[in-house]
Amino acid sequence: SVIRFDGVVMTHEDGTYRGMLFHLQDVTEIRRLERMRSEFVANVSHELKTPLAAVKGFAETLLGGVEDEKTSRSFIRIIYDESERLNRLIRDILELSKIESKRSVMEYSPIHLSTFFESLFEFMLPHAREKQIQMKMDVPDELFIEGDEDKLRQIFTNLLSNAVNYTQEGGRVQLSVDEVLSEEHGERVILTVKDSGIGIPKKDLPRIFERFYRVDKARSRGSGGTGLGLSIVKHLVELHSGTIKVDSEPGLGSSFVIELPMLQEG
Ligand code: ADP
Repeated sequence: SVIRFDGVVMTHEDGTYRGMLFHLQDVTEIRRLERMRSEFVANVSHELKTPLAAVKGFAETLLGGVEDEKTSRSFIRIIYDESERLNRLIRDILELSKIESKRSVMEYSPIHLSTFFESLFEFMLPHAREKQIQMKMDVPDELFIEGDEDKLRQIFTNLLSNAVNYTQEGGRVQLSVDEVLSEEHGERVILTVKDSGIGIPKKDLPRIFERFYRVDKARSRGSGGTGLGLSIVKHLVELHSGTIKVDSEPGLGSSFVIELPMLQEG
């Protein structure tokens, strides 16, 4: 560990020597947080610079004059797409910083899970249809939990859109909800998002909830990902006093399993 050591000489009022005061502090944790913060800032700058460089470069070329209409339209398309990417990045970075600085307030209300997921599915279906992905859900009829609806929507929008993005055409995505009762934890619900997609290599599994971590950078960029989705998901699950786990087999698919208390304490 890293110990910070300070000492001061103390004197009497007439200036004569009285003694020394020492202060020892273990700053290991503070240092670790400082390091994480500066790594994050470096990552953010890098992530923002890439799309910005594309916007600037293609705008410059256009300003220099591009003869044919088709080429100039394709440059404008790139500029548009990269601006959208900047938009998503900034939105996710702000969201993450709001959660991490604990400025995120929880607004609990009773949520009827099957209604909640039906409306979420309606929103996701067009994207799944484009890839001919079959989306199914299996949610008990009369199940309510106490949660923050916006945050739950964000959790499952992220997980379901990852499931669709990282699954090849013609694949399957399934959401299921089960109730469990244990002596230790009381009533809980288990929510599973399972896909038949490309899967995640074992060595990457422990890191996928880290900010900006991607298994395949090119694929993530191609699907419009920011690399922040899962770290936001993990934080939001923890705000609900829940846990998230992932299980995956490359080539066969992945499943993300969230366990939440049915009712919040206090
Ligand atoms: P991204 O914006 O890149 O999707 P996420 O934080 O949501 O970022 O996910 C981190 C990485 O985890 C992704 O880049 C991808 O490599 C991997 N990943 C996430 N969900 C899945 C999934 N359902 N199937 C395969 N890989 C996934």
